[in-house]
Amino acid sequence: MNQTIGKCIHPLHKALLGAVRATVRCGAVDIDAERCKGCGLCVGWCPAQTLALSAEANLRGYRHSTQVRPRDCIGCGTCATVCPDGCITCYRK
Ligand code: SF4
Ligand code: SF4
Repeated sequence: MNQTIGKCIHPLHKALLGAVRATVRCGAVDIDAERCKGCGLCVGWCPAQTLALSAEANLRGYRHSTQVRPRDCIGCGTCATVCPDGCITCYRK
């Protein structure tokens, strides 16, 4: 079972989501689960709330980030930007 650890309700965050959705059709991310330390920054900052921490730990013992609603990803790249360890690559399609 995945757990979402943060939801942003800031008006600027919602405005960003609307603006990006208007210009970007769809996105995808590649998460390096074994390098992830489970800090949750990407989960909390994803404006589309498509990320969560996994129930299972990776080989280093961390619950890693995973995309639970990939169809909602807008390809904004916020998760890749905020990840302190560069574990995420974002694609637009
Ligand atoms: S690119 Fe990352 S932050 Fe943006 S919607 Fe997709 S998963 Fe969320
Ligand atoms: S920000 Fe990076 S290290 Fe932190 S949970 Fe997300 S992918 Fe993992």
